[in-house]
Amino acid sequence: MHDRQFASRPSPTVRVFTDFDGTVTETDIGDALLRHFCGETLFDDILHRWHDGAYTAVEAYRRLFAAIPRLTGPVLDEWLQAYSLDPSFSRFVEWCDHHGYPLMILSDGFDAYIQRMLQRAQLDVPFRANRLILGTGAPRVEFPYTDQRCPQHANCKSNHMLLHAQDEDLIVYVGDGTSDYDAAMYADLVFARGVLEHWCQERNISFRRFYSFTTVRDVLSDLIDRRALRPGKRARVLRRQLWSTG
Ligand SMILES: [Mg+2]
Repeated sequence: MHDRQFASRPSPTVRVFTDFDGTVTETDIGDALLRHFCGETLFDDILHRWHDGAYTAVEAYRRLFAAIPRLTGPVLDEWLQAYSLDPSFSRFVEWCDHHGYPLMILSDGFDAYIQRMLQRAQLDVPFRANRLILGTGAPRVEFPYTDQRCPQHANCKSNHMLLHAQDEDLIVYVGDGTSDYDAAMYADLVFARGVLEHWCQERNISFRRFYSFTTVRDVLSDLIDRRALRPGKRARVLRRQLWSTG
């Protein structure tokens, strides 16, 4: 499934955006990677400063990766062997492909492990994530998708949703964590678990709890068949506001 499909889909269509860490994978890979290579003490120290607002996400990530100069491509490949995608995700990708529902992964993690894990699962799904460049020297990180609207995150997910959707499209978002809060506000239908679920409850954002992508597919399929997948009023107002302010 390539980016081109996004541009060529008839509108309106159902578009699915999903988080990666802890959603497409059971384990938060970015978190586990940095914990493993930086050590618990440094990781926890920087994480606290990030959550307290002392560091932005970009500052926190830069400090963490600066501490692990020995991380190279082969080292990452070997470490990643212990992890895989949720098997239900492959079937979900097939289902979206079959029905022509564009699917995109939005991650505040890094392309280096997302790309490797998708390739290993033989999945071709477009994604937008922060960049981790691994060569023979120290790792380099780049953050092409920062936005002042999302100071706590390096990749502002809602921007991608708005950039890739038309006004009348039905936007579905699947996620589990803090980096999904912003995106969930702009979606017509949210599938949530973990802290995202509690956040939606507190803000009165309706959502469906999901256990795997089998739940997402079954619920979505049923709603579409019954023509019961409807625009979210609050999400549409917010989307229009954001479109109009550019
Ligand atoms: Mg997550």
